[in-house]
Amino acid sequence: MTDIACDTVTLDLAILRVEILYTGGTFGMVDGGDGLRPRTGIGGDVADLIDAYTDRFGIPVEFRYRELEHVIDSAHAGPDTVGVIAEQVRAALRVTRSEGGTPPDGVILIHGTDTMAYTGARLAFELHDLAIPVVLTGAQIPLGQPGSDAGENLLLALNSIATQPASGTFIAFGSRLHPAVRASKRSSHDRDGFVTVRPHTPPPGPIASPDTGAKAETPSPVGLFTVFPGMDTDLLDAALRIYHGGVVLECYGAGTMPASAAAIDAIRKATGRGTPVVVITHCDSGSVDLSLYQPGRALLAAGAIGGGDMTREAALAKLGHLAGFELTAAELRRWMTSNLLGELTESPASH
Ligand code: ASP
Repeated sequence: MTDIACDTVTLDLAILRVEILYTGGTFGMVDGGDGLRPRTGIGGDVADLIDAYTDRFGIPVEFRYRELEHVIDSAHAGPDTVGVIAEQVRAALRVTRSEGGTPPDGVILIHGTDTMAYTGARLAFELHDLAIPVVLTGAQIPLGQPGSDAGENLLLALNSIATQPASGTFIAFGSRLHPAVRASKRSSHDRDGFVTVRPHTPPPGPIASPDTGAKAETPSPVGLFTVFPGMDTDLLDAALRIYHGGVVLECYGAGTMPASAAAIDAIRKATGRGTPVVVITHCDSGSVDLSLYQPGRALLAAGAIGGGDMTREAALAKLGHLAGFELTAAELRRWMTSNLLGELTESPASH
């Protein structure tokens, strides 16, 4: 977690250059009589906020503003949404390059808060090669409404690019900048709606990635399944069949679940069919250790992979990213249990 005060700028910047992409979310919503819904055409409001930033901090901002063709309530994000956003970011940077313009200092994505941590975590993997920061922001209360946090959050996003020109994907929200691979939305109304669940632990040295390997022609779907007392094995089995590209299994504590013979059999059959099963914990601290309890041992024997201390958003993002490559089961296990971007504290006990 990084505190970036909204009233300090430590860099002596002559000009701040940013690309802004509005994807939807409460930030720009209006109530059309049947509840809040996203609206298009908020470029003028964004320009006013940027003028306010320049007035407050004395830093001129050169920005290019774009909107997704279909702005959405982020609750409607589908499996392709993040790919569309990543492609828009890359396209915007290509245009600047081809026009011979100065590359931006950072990219700001205005996004709904409900799935911001999922999108942010996935973008961290998809855009890890960008040399500039990508900062997601949004709001709990729409622009122009009393008590709106939209303006302050946009200023925080601008300030985080001005003060922290490190590459990587972040969430700027409330009073904090969160590394996306460790962030989670934990309040539906607080101004500080996100938390950095666990410390960000980026590996020293360059980021390792399977990106150079062959791409999967059609990536298989990946999903998330939370275990609970009374869980019906048929439900688990259905998830393992539908999300045959891989399932993040959110378990209890150190990686336990109602490990009936039928449930373990469903997992063994899934891993045998080539569907990776990655076990994470629903706890906010601590890590998975599949060797500790009998249910964990049964999961291990059935071929499950220990997901260490990854958040659900980061685990799903990483599995989805890896599903985009032609990897053997052993390669996928190795990537999944290696700390690529600070999403995972590596520990032998977690594998
Ligand atoms: N439902 C909204 C969204 O995620 C919530 C928000 O933006 O705060 O798009």
